Amino acid sequence: MNKDEQYIRKCIELAEIGGKTADFPFGSVVVLDDKIISEKYNEALQNNEVYRHAELLALLDAQKKLSKDELSRCTIYSSVEPCPMCAFAIQELNIRRVVFGLPIADNGRIYKVENTSGRTDKRDLS
Ligand SMILES: [Zn+2]
Repeated sequence: MNKDEQYIRKCIELAEIGGKTADFPFGSVVVLDDKIISEKYNEALQNNEVYRHAELLALLDAQKKLSKDELSRCTIYSSVEPCPMCAFAIQELNIRRVVFGLPIADNGRIYKVENTSGRTDKRDLS
């Protein structure tokens, strides 16, 4: 297993943890020099804070720990292709590289298969 696969597997583990807390199952890690700087899962359904996506939370955490220069050398990994909001943040922070597990078009299928919260108001993008 190469490094990218290893970090994507970590994202999937985080997504599984997040999904068990009745949230959408997405995970993300920010990596610098082969070291995980931050790791987060989605918290968008908790307190109805819709912007609390895994990628955005991982970036905010990394931003607290790293300089602008260091951030620009990071890779962000995500279980699913980042949405436009997170993609904007990635671009604005000048993150060097983005690696994701599934294209965003597959989001709907993930909700159906892996979200066990029982909620019925999820967007189905498939
Ligand atoms: Zn997002």
